[in-house]
Amino acid sequence: MTTCGRFSRKQRDQDGGDEPLPLPAGPVSNGEFVPAGETARDRAVDQLIRSSIDDAAARIGLDRRRFLQGAGAVAASLAVFELAACSNTATSRGASYPHKSGQGGTFAAPPPQDTEACQQALAGNGEFIFDVHTHHVIPTGPWVQDAPDTVGLALGMVPAACTDNPQLDCVDRASYLHDLFLASDTTVAVLTDLPNSGPSNAPLPFTEALSTQQITDGLVHGGASRVLVENIIYPNVGALNATLDEMTSAVQSGPPAAFKVYTAWSPTGQGFSLEDPSIGLPTVQHAQDLGVKVFVAHKGLPLVNFDPTFNHPEDMVAISRQFPDMNFVIYHAAWDPSHIEGPYDATATIGIDTLLAALDRHNVPPNDNVWVDLAAVWRQLLTQPDQAAHALGKLLSRVGQERVMWGTDAIWYGSPEPQIMAMRAFQITSEFQDLYNYPALTDEVKTNIFGLNAAILFGIDPTATRCAMTTDPLAANIDESAELRSDGALPSAWTPHGPTTRRQILQWLASPATRWNPT
Ligand SMILES: [Zn+2]
Repeated sequence: MTTCGRFSRKQRDQDGGDEPLPLPAGPVSNGEFVPAGETARDRAVDQLIRSSIDDAAARIGLDRRRFLQGAGAVAASLAVFELAACSNTATSRGASYPHKSGQGGTFAAPPPQDTEACQQALAGNGEFIFDVHTHHVIPTGPWVQDAPDTVGLALGMVPAACTDNPQLDCVDRASYLHDLFLASDTTVAVLTDLPNSGPSNAPLPFTEALSTQQITDGLVHGGASRVLVENIIYPNVGALNATLDEMTSAVQSGPPAAFKVYTAWSPTGQGFSLEDPSIGLPTVQHAQDLGVKVFVAHKGLPLVNFDPTFNHPEDMVAISRQFPDMNFVIYHAAWDPSHIEGPYDATATIGIDTLLAALDRHNVPPNDNVWVDLAAVWRQLLTQPDQAAHALGKLLSRVGQERVMWGTDAIWYGSPEPQIMAMRAFQITSEFQDLYNYPALTDEVKTNIFGLNAAILFGIDPTATRCAMTTDPLAANIDESAELRSDGALPSAWTPHGPTTRRQILQWLASPATRWNPT
């Protein structure tokens, strides 16, 4: 039976002075690694954002809570991030690199008090948004008892604004459907999971991911599917044949859109290489034989119990030469939060540069069969626009403008909408384009990143999907959702949880327009 969690959401106190910001400077976390603590700089930046928001709200006579739910609050945040980057060194959590003159990344957003202009500038043009990296958990699953480390990992990333009890309800299925499809412009999403070695310790076992897919299909009345699922495999745990058999049965019950591995993880902390002839190579070969042509690996972004020896993207880039008919997706683009992203440095030992160096070493041309997504990378770096410009500039020029895909790690951060708005506004300056040979972030480049690249990889027709959405009750209910939200009846788009109860969300999702009857 499909369950949607308990109705335990508590009433939020909305009158306090610390309503969550749409894009706090820190500490932010994607629920996949233990975040560094909030720095003095983060606190100062958040304080500046709050006073800018108070100021703008006062100028137009809107109460702060209402203002926080609009595009003006995002614009205020982006302006502060840009301002904070205007010092002559780029610093991040204890490290720094010499910064050339001028700025590398800017946000094109109107003044925050001009809420209508902000909405116009940040609301997009109905572009196709395909988020290739999303999460939710099953708060009542056996993993809660059997995988304390993973629970600790997940709880470490549940946003501070979460008031649910148990807290994992903040990242459950109902929250996922709300945050992704009602509170954001996301059209299609790939649902993935945290490291695990089977259903007993998986936060989202494959069968539950399939249930989420089926529920969503029910909500959209047979329109084009809006959730694709990944199957997480663990060929380094137990007998290889067991993994290969599970892959076969996943294809029969799924099929999954991709297989995903955590090469740096196992319950004992021992990783593996995709080049290992007794582990990696037969697994990739089996995926190809099964016709699942997308193979995903988490690289970079160290999690708990990670084996650094196998967190490097080298093995995946190497095997891309042996399997030219397969496509290899490097989640997080090998980005590592402890490394400052600057101009390309071939000697770097962690971070995006290690991926670029591996591509060079193995003669992989741009726009070949190695892909990346921006999950966590964009959310973490958008508060430091120069690093964001370097990260995006390097990935677009070397991995390729047709191989960089939108990913957000939602719903670890709540609704991905603020991330979407920030990307719409983001520009790499002409100065950085000239200095480092980075491409301009034209509308065409952004459209590719937001969805058209992933549509090609996963064989989704973006036009058909959007057509289907015009008759899709989930899409049709977005207006209703916005109205309810402005009355405080639904959680705001920016917060993982909100002023109301889960019951209200579920009742609303189960309205006569839909076929979902949550039990
Ligand atoms: Zn993730």
